[in-house]
Amino acid sequence: MVYTGTRTPSTHTVSAAEAIKEGLSPDGGLYMPMELPIITLAEIEVLLTKSYAARAAYILGKYLTDYSTEELREDCSGAYAEARFPGGAAPVRRLDDETYMLELWHGPTAAFKDMALQIMPRLLSRALVKTGEKRTALILVATSGDTGKAALEGYRDIPGTKIQVFYPVDGVSEIQKLQMMTQEGKNVSVAAIRGNFDDAQSGVKRIFADEDTKSALNEHGVFLSSANSINWGRLAPQIVYYVSAYCDMVRNGAIQLGELMDICVPTGNFGNIFAAYLAKRMGLPIDRLICASNTNNVLTEFLTTGVYDRNRTFHTTMSPSMDILISSNLERLLYLLFGHERTASCMRSLAETGRYELTPAELAAVQRTFVGYCTDEDGTRKTLRETWEDRHYLADPHTAVALGAARQYQRDHGAKRKLLVASTASPYKFAYDVYHSLFDETPSDGLAALTMLTEKTGVAIPAPLGHIAERTVRFTGVIDADEMPAEVLRFASDVD
Ligand SMILES: *Cc1c(COP(=O)(O)O)cnc(C)c1O
Repeated sequence: MVYTGTRTPSTHTVSAAEAIKEGLSPDGGLYMPMELPIITLAEIEVLLTKSYAARAAYILGKYLTDYSTEELREDCSGAYAEARFPGGAAPVRRLDDETYMLELWHGPTAAFKDMALQIMPRLLSRALVKTGEKRTALILVATSGDTGKAALEGYRDIPGTKIQVFYPVDGVSEIQKLQMMTQEGKNVSVAAIRGNFDDAQSGVKRIFADEDTKSALNEHGVFLSSANSINWGRLAPQIVYYVSAYCDMVRNGAIQLGELMDICVPTGNFGNIFAAYLAKRMGLPIDRLICASNTNNVLTEFLTTGVYDRNRTFHTTMSPSMDILISSNLERLLYLLFGHERTASCMRSLAETGRYELTPAELAAVQRTFVGYCTDEDGTRKTLRETWEDRHYLADPHTAVALGAARQYQRDHGAKRKLLVASTASPYKFAYDVYHSLFDETPSDGLAALTMLTEKTGVAIPAPLGHIAERTVRFTGVIDADEMPAEVLRFASDVD
């Protein structure tokens, strides 16, 4: 299996290991496999009785053909072990007769990012060996919360790597801050930046573009790498849980083997829902994909009108991981449907004017699978409350955005098929907003909300978030954005 960039003809191809090591392709686009592997119903039947780790090794083996079966088995068993995902990696729960929840937040940081970030560092570590890389990969991350912690947990103590995370000092929740300040591991570093997320993000981008810093790092035997969701190493592992959920639904009798289902995904960067699309293209019986957005509904408009337009007001919402105006992985869908030339012209237009527009025929091709709905802040609060009152299911705000969209879809289209809704965060990561939405009272702070929410609902706090206030704080540094390059060099030259 070879990989190619989304914007140029496939003259330059790379292996999976190279794609994972490089991240972006040299044409400025994203890496995609040259052809899509298939999965048959007979293969799915074999997977029914297997563990999540075994299912993952099997599916990844179809894409990462330069990794041996043994390597993938070892990495998947390590990443999805019971100790990291107590009770199983991606359980499916029944909400009502038509609606099922795919819970993707049972990992070490209680966020869906764990599903990919537990395995990707292991794949990168092997990629370094496979490509003959002798230097250490320094993963630089600017985070508005969830990704930073999930990346720290994923990369901690992974051979050949170091990870450094920058977060805006006043731009993440108290719980998220504590999660990062108490991070364990020998190869990790965390610093707060005076400023907002953009300041942290621009600081990281400047370092990636700064030849002086990069050559200084090189002298220490270090090169920069990123952990963001456009890397194929993060996308491929996300295909697995859709196949796994299908297996579990067949086993539980929710569907028959071969029966079509629909999937609804709370969407930001379009990575999670695109993984579901790849599963469908491989042959998993999926009919429609419902793309759920919050008030930042650029994708709802795109899927309805064919116009992608980022020239709009940015809204800060209760579902911050979906506060995104450029959904990077959408490029991969354009490439699969319309080829590299058309993708390149859309991306040029997006860079130059902030918008592009599909032809009616192209829009029809997208709409054969995708439908977009959005849920505003009031709708999110109402959905959180109703889901608790009617179903006794405690959702987080991102999942509530998806449930709001799912209900609109079921109203418009009837409940013809079983609908699987991706649940992307533990409600306890957003305890303050969840508590406020359910009970109309305002907790004094985020930590108080954790206790109040569990006392009032009886739903247990996930282990990674329990006792967080009692952990040892390791990282208290607060720096200016212009001190970031020095901080990176200091950490890179640290010997452990
Ligand atoms: C990252 C994230 C999303 C969005 O996923 P994409 O792959 O970026 O579309 C949704 N919910 C939560 C909780 C997330 O962390």
